[in-house]
Amino acid sequence: MPQIVDLTGRVALVTGGSRGIGAAIVQALAEAGANVAINYRSAAADADAAAAKVRAIGRKALAVAADVSEASAVAKLVRTVQDGLGPIDILVNNAGIALIRGIDDLTEADFDRTIAVNLKSVFLCTQAVLPHMREQHWGRIVNISSGAARGAGGVGLHYNASKAGMEGMTRGYAARLVKEGITVNAVAPSLIETDMVRAGVAATPSRIPLGRFGTPEEVAMVVMMLVGNAYMTGQTVALSGGMAFS
Ligand code: NAP
Repeated sequence: MPQIVDLTGRVALVTGGSRGIGAAIVQALAEAGANVAINYRSAAADADAAAAKVRAIGRKALAVAADVSEASAVAKLVRTVQDGLGPIDILVNNAGIALIRGIDDLTEADFDRTIAVNLKSVFLCTQAVLPHMREQHWGRIVNISSGAARGAGGVGLHYNASKAGMEGMTRGYAARLVKEGITVNAVAPSLIETDMVRAGVAATPSRIPLGRFGTPEEVAMVVMMLVGNAYMTGQTVALSGGMAFS
């Protein structure tokens, strides 16, 4: 990928960075010079593989298991990254789940879990990294939303709500942090070929005007554009193969 930003000496944390979109973002950040912490929930082998790819190009990597929906786990995650790589300059809130449910089979537990993993985690992780970013007057936060924040999507209304909330929080933080050198933006992909989409019953390339799924690397390119741009904040950049225009 052509480099649009030099992140030499920066430390990045990518939640859910072990596979799919997160793993591509980890690799792009490392290629731009950053040392990268790779958070995951339970699949250690994927996280170790992503870390090995980062080390192979000469950057430092740290794989850290933590459920980002839990405050105590997030506090420990951020401490572990600080001790291992240094304070976090770049946060990518990417961890997410997509439980496919209709109106009638959506349970309270599904709703609460989705909001906790996809939305509350953004609050917890952002709050935990902000003190250092504010102190140094520089920080980049990118939230991985979804076309489902605005459209129906194929997952369910709980997922719509979690991603719409994430975009609201993106604007809320951006407005409050704009004078402190910290940008907060979101990327809203639709139908990127990962385990999440492969497991989704409603996801076929025929729904996409471009005629194919997007790739994790295409999402990572947008993340890198946002990390490299000091003037852009509070925005959501959509990429959907022509399915939606914003
Ligand atoms: P994926 O392939 O299912 O990977 C999900 C990642 O998140 C894994 O690393 C997983 O770790 C981690 N994770 C899940 N729950 C977690 C938790 N509670 N704490 C910490 N880590 C957790 O997903 P993806 O398709 O790459 O999606 C990444 C993000 O993009 C999600 O926020 C998703 O909503 C969003 N998105 C995806 C698409 C798409 O078409 N794929 C479209 C729009 C938006 P383990 O492997 O250990 O479980």
